[in-house]
Amino acid sequence: MYRKVKIITTIGPSSGNYDTIYKLIQEGVDGFRINFSHGEPKQWDEWIKMIREASTKLEKEVALIGDIPGPQVRIGNLPVQEIKAKETVKLVFGEETNEMKTIPIPIKKVFEILELGDTLLIDDGRVILRIIDVGEKEAEAIVLNDATLHSRKTLVIFGKEVDLPVITAKDIELLKYSVSRDLTFIAISFVRRQNDVLIVKDLLNRLGGRINIISKIETRSAVRNLKEIIEVSDAIIIARGDLGMHFSLEEIPRIQRRIARESIMFGKPSIVATQLLESMVNYPRPSRSEVVDVVNAVYDLVDALLLTDETAIGKYPVEAVKWLKRIIASAESTIIMDQVTKIRERTKLETLREKYAIGLILLAEKINCKVLIFTKTSTIPPLISRFRPQIPVYVGTINKKIAEKLAIYYGIKPYTLSQVPPDKTIDYDQGVRLLYNYLKNREEITYGEIIAEAYGRRETEIHEIKIRQVI
Ligand code: PGA
Ligand code: MN
Repeated sequence: MYRKVKIITTIGPSSGNYDTIYKLIQEGVDGFRINFSHGEPKQWDEWIKMIREASTKLEKEVALIGDIPGPQVRIGNLPVQEIKAKETVKLVFGEETNEMKTIPIPIKKVFEILELGDTLLIDDGRVILRIIDVGEKEAEAIVLNDATLHSRKTLVIFGKEVDLPVITAKDIELLKYSVSRDLTFIAISFVRRQNDVLIVKDLLNRLGGRINIISKIETRSAVRNLKEIIEVSDAIIIARGDLGMHFSLEEIPRIQRRIARESIMFGKPSIVATQLLESMVNYPRPSRSEVVDVVNAVYDLVDALLLTDETAIGKYPVEAVKWLKRIIASAESTIIMDQVTKIRERTKLETLREKYAIGLILLAEKINCKVLIFTKTSTIPPLISRFRPQIPVYVGTINKKIAEKLAIYYGIKPYTLSQVPPDKTIDYDQGVRLLYNYLKNREEITYGEIIAEAYGRRETEIHEIKIRQVI
């Protein structure tokens, strides 16, 4: 079964061991996210090493994504305590307090924008407060639900944004770390505008790193500035967790669809994240509505689905991936061709390469054959993926970073052709031959089968397609 929509898992305590990582890759996981909001470099290093080892052993390319916390407001340190609905609590400017029913907030700006009647969501909305009085460095709020308060949890003022720099000093350390570990992507949280992405790009340049940037769309400004952000990003995460803290929940399906569509228009992969199979944190089977949600994401034609708590802290990380595969397979077998056609019709065909890409797909779909393509700079594969190919597309490259990046693209199966030393120049025909032999050995293509070989040559104005039989 050739799966087109990719699966990314978040690594955490319940999956951060070799055995589980190996099983996840064996099941077909295409990427791993490390959430830098938790843990420390020593732990992340172990995970990265295990992922690389298992990926090499299984000859399966996976993307490594480091997730940078970005500009978040977190409450300070306080004693763990229960708070009850209808009680009042105090908010004070500061890093910590020992007083009960008092929440320290280390960022003064919060008090400047707080207004009477504002709703505060702490700890992903587990604690909800309503502001009833505001001073310069203090505020008072009514508790709306029974809850437990823990130190350092996120705080959101519903519908408002605290204007903080996109990157903190700690984030810069994380960027350096990601560059030094040669990760495939970094994901930036709480991006608000194009310039936020450009700032990070500039920083990365100065660090000498060529890491791809994923912008996480999770604030109101990001949704407002969507196109400009997608334009300069390498990929997009539809971060439904935090979107749900800034928008009304019923707005999320529409936002998801819009981000998916715009991403395709720009030819950038989009990834749907959070609560896909949330109930599998505790149970070995997903709920009915979760299954429907995953199917709808597949119908939205997104590139990848990102499991978060399910694989990071859940009891059933491998089962969650198995379920995701099952649901995706079923959804893909019933994909509505109308949707795919619509996307193809909406995409302008301007360059020779774009015309080549769509021509190649239409041809291969018509005669129902697999496509083999060799790439040096990864110009053609993203163009192919963007048209949402409904036949298998195998991509060979000698550049491992390219293969890792393509691992999250819709409909593309990338391989690093390791028989070739990375510094050796090899022409496109040789490249496709290598890929052909490799796939034949793996029985991905078999005797007698018709295939299309694609040569998106960089240096000429001629792009070729060869139809051949596997012998
Ligand atoms: P997070 O991002 O897990 O880093 O918060 C995902 C989301 O907000 O949905
Ligand atoms: Mn988030």
